Amino acid sequence: MTTKQIQWFPGHMFKSLREIKERTKLMDLVIVLLDARLPLSSMNPKLMEIIHHKPMILLFNKMDLADDKVMNTFLKHYQQQGFYTLKIDAATGRNVSKIRPLAEQILKEKLDREKNKGLKPRALRTMILGIPNVGKSTLINQLSKSSATKTANTPGVTKSQQWIKLGQDFELLDTPGVLWPKFEDPKVGFHLAITGAIRDKILPEEEVVYYALNYLQTHYPERIKKRYDIDQEDSLETMLDKIGKLRGCLLKGGDLDYERIYHIVLADIRNKQLGGLSFDRFEDVSV
Ligand code: GDP
Repeated sequence: MTTKQIQWFPGHMFKSLREIKERTKLMDLVIVLLDARLPLSSMNPKLMEIIHHKPMILLFNKMDLADDKVMNTFLKHYQQQGFYTLKIDAATGRNVSKIRPLAEQILKEKLDREKNKGLKPRALRTMILGIPNVGKSTLINQLSKSSATKTANTPGVTKSQQWIKLGQDFELLDTPGVLWPKFEDPKVGFHLAITGAIRDKILPEEEVVYYALNYLQTHYPERIKKRYDIDQEDSLETMLDKIGKLRGCLLKGGDLDYERIYHIVLADIRNKQLGGLSFDRFEDVSV
C-alpha cells in the first residue's frame, strides 16, 4: 500500500506501542482481542514481539459473524501452538463469563509459587489489547457489568485510568491498548474494510466491493446464488447487474445505481444476511 494509506492510522497509535510495552509489564496476563472473521488481519504485526513472554489469552470476538468451520480451524491451530483461546460474542456476552476462570487457571501456578514463597495474596491484573473496532470497549462494558467497583488510580498508570474489579482477586485496566492493524498487505486492507474495521471511503468502495464479490464467489458460491442469484461463472458486471436489478437500484435514466449496490453488498455482509463469513483463510497462515 502507498504511504498515503499508511496515514489511515493516527500517529498516536504508532507511539502507543512503546507505552503498551511499558504498561504490559504491570500485567499478570494480557487479553488479545481478534476479529473471529479475520484472526490474521486483525492481529497487530508487532504485538507478539512485545508480549510473547506474557501469559496471554487470544479472544476471537464477533464469533456470531464468523464462519464456524473456518473459525474453529484457526482456534485449533492456535491451541496446537500452545495459545489459550476462547471464541466470544462481546455484544451479547456469549462466553464472556469463561474469561476469568480461564485466566485464573492460567495463572494458578504463578500464584501458588508466590504463595509458597510466603508472598501475600494479591489481585491479578490484566488488560485488553486490539486494533480499532475489534470490540474492546464492548467487552470492557460487558465485563464491568458483573463487577461492582472500580478501584482507585494506581501509581505508574496514567491518571485517568482505573482498574475494574472482576471478582475478588482479579482486576482489569479500564482503558484498552489500541494498536494499528497490518496495512502493508492490500488483502488485509480489503478484509478490514469489508468488515468495517476501517472506515468506509478509506479504500475506494468499488474496489472493496469487487474484492468482496470475487471472494464470495470463490468461497461462498451457494450463499450468493441464494441471495442474489449469482452463478459461479458470472463476471463482475453481471454480478452487479443482477444485484442492482433484484434490489431495484436504478437511477432515473434506468442506469444502475452502483453506489447503492455497493452499500447493499457491504450491509448484507456485515449484518449476516449471507450467514457467518470468514475473510482470512487457514491456507493464508504462513507458519
Ligand atoms: P473498539 O474500538 O475495539 O472498542 O470496538 P467497539 O467495542 O466500539 O466495537 C465496535 C463495533 O463492533 C460496535 O458496533 C460493537 O457493537 C460491535 N461488536 C463488538 N463486539 C461484537 C460481537 O461480538 N458481535 C457483533 N456482532 N458485534 C460486536
